[in-house]
Amino acid sequence: MANIPASVVRYIQSMWMAEMILTYLHVDIQGRLIDWGGYPQHYGLIDLTKDKLVVEQVNFLDGFLDITHTEVLQYLNIGGSRYINVHIVPLDGSIYVLLFDVTDEHNKQQKMQQQVNELSILTYRQSQLLQELETTRKKLSEEKKQLEQAIKLKSNFIATLSHELRTPLTSIMGYTKLLDDAKQANDYETKYLDSVKRNANHLLSLIDNVLDQTKLEIGQIKLHSNNCNVKQLLADLKSLFLPIAQEKNLLFDIKISNNLPTQLIIDELRFRQVLINLITNGIKFTDKGFVEVEIAWQNGRLDFTVTDSGPGISSESQQKIFTAFHRESTAKTLPGAGLGLAISYHLVELMGGQLSVESSPQFGSNFTGFISANSVQFPNNNVNSISHTNIKVLLVDDSIDLRSLIELYLENYGYAVITASDGQEAVKLALQTKPDIILMDMQMPVLDGYNAVQQLRAKKFTKPIIALSGSNIEHDRKYAFEVGCNEYMTKPVDPENLLNTISKIIQ
Ligand code: ADP
Repeated sequence: MANIPASVVRYIQSMWMAEMILTYLHVDIQGRLIDWGGYPQHYGLIDLTKDKLVVEQVNFLDGFLDITHTEVLQYLNIGGSRYINVHIVPLDGSIYVLLFDVTDEHNKQQKMQQQVNELSILTYRQSQLLQELETTRKKLSEEKKQLEQAIKLKSNFIATLSHELRTPLTSIMGYTKLLDDAKQANDYETKYLDSVKRNANHLLSLIDNVLDQTKLEIGQIKLHSNNCNVKQLLADLKSLFLPIAQEKNLLFDIKISNNLPTQLIIDELRFRQVLINLITNGIKFTDKGFVEVEIAWQNGRLDFTVTDSGPGISSESQQKIFTAFHRESTAKTLPGAGLGLAISYHLVELMGGQLSVESSPQFGSNFTGFISANSVQFPNNNVNSISHTNIKVLLVDDSIDLRSLIELYLENYGYAVITASDGQEAVKLALQTKPDIILMDMQMPVLDGYNAVQQLRAKKFTKPIIALSGSNIEHDRKYAFEVGCNEYMTKPVDPENLLNTISKIIQ
């Protein structure tokens, strides 16, 4: 403060002291008060008396005045919420006691301490939460692993079961059809046959739905897009559903827009499945009126709508009907498992589209959707124009029923058929008789289809081989192609489809 005038320094000092509310007491060696200054009243010291013992007048100094060197007593509480710092300074045979009010500083420190405490509690809590999070994460990843394992087991179980169910079911359906075609049955027998057919069909669609749902859950459904004659597909659906609708006195029609190309590249099987699900529902839930399908084409997109005049679906239920196993209480008396719409919804998404519903309880339901599709020009493939008389087919299947059934179809169509009941026999016969094509069951005793095909290809058998399998699993399909099959068909094999495929391959 060298350049500041002394009067200004004094003024500043006085202001500073006033701000600190400083008080001093001058005490002699016996502890009696000699003098005082500053603001004793600020510390509650109103009646200070000279020559009287200080400890009798200033209680909080009791015990501190016999100190022989300078000492500072910090944050002494002098009652209420007031705190002071006391400087005791022995000097020249007497003692100076300086009092500073530090209540504000004390409060600030308290507050800071409190904040530090809160912060450390928070840090502790945070580390606890992090630990809990880590434990939960570990637990979840363990549970996820177990769940994935369980889903895999379940899907394998269902795939095996479905294969076991499909094979005998194929025989039941095939022989029922043969009996039906024979047309020698009387009225009762026809009725019984119809019932067997209906129930076998129902069973098959249930198995397929359960299997599809399982595969969708684990992302195992892959699309197989190919040339599809859409107009033919729609004509097939019309002839399939018209009699069923007529039986319920319902009007049924499929309207097709004029610009619909004949050939589209789509997954025919899956698109057919979606339409069948929607039309089946329309007819199943509608008692009076109509079910109508509309198909339209616009720039790489195939639109479809299935409208009915049935009971409709309330707006709350419209959110839920695409969830697996959801069925309205009104549907409980009708057949179904609540899987059709869930499967259709996911299949349409897989095909690059969307499916939605609009409905009101008075006016029926309207299921609208679209899938992505490309149009193509495809040469007409007429199966009937090919002569089959010289074509030799080796049919391999361990089920005698199924073998006889397919043999019958093939022979009816003019093919020469040789049969084998396992892979080993098939390899031997194929090398001896040199068939033009082999139909190979993949799951067989002694030597399975995969190994048989592998052996045949290793022995330079170059003619086409069609895998016939009860498994819909993508991995099995891929493996069949890997070992050397040219086509893969799942059981129950549709005879028309099989004949078409054979014709296409041997052309
Ligand atoms: P399911 O037909 O086997 O019951 P879906 O998944 O196909 O299973 O349908 C789920 C539910 O949605 C049905 O049980 C029914 O309650 C309702 N639903 C579906 N389609 C219609 C429709 N066209 N009219 C009225 N309700 C329908």
